[in-house]
Amino acid sequence: MIVAFDIDDTITRHPEFFAFLSKNLKNNGHTVVIITFRENRTETESLLEKLGIAYDKLITSSLQAHMEHGVDEWKAAICRERNVDVFFEDDPRVITHVDNSTICMMPIDKDRHDLDSMTEPLFG
Ligand SMILES: [Mg+2]
Repeated sequence: MIVAFDIDDTITRHPEFFAFLSKNLKNNGHTVVIITFRENRTETESLLEKLGIAYDKLITSSLQAHMEHGVDEWKAAICRERNVDVFFEDDPRVITHVDNSTICMMPIDKDRHDLDSMTEPLFG
């Protein structure tokens, strides 16, 4: 499997879980890709090392990438290009653009997300 993680409000929300998950995925032969809107590669590499995140590829963002794809569409384009199987991402505006062939896992923060409105399309 190819598994992708967002950093801000995903990895950073529960870094111990993502350190465990990323190491176990890699140890079992899967590929871990980090896809982030962060632009400073060196700072981002330091953060991932500090948090103990294991990965194969780090994809940072750029103004040029956003111009080519649109801000919300950029991560979806990366998932498509790299055949990502599972994508952990906190922003529903990003998830909206991801193809159905990629399963999205979104951390829910009850202080941030309106759970009632999120269930309406499913049960309304
Ligand atoms: Mg995020």
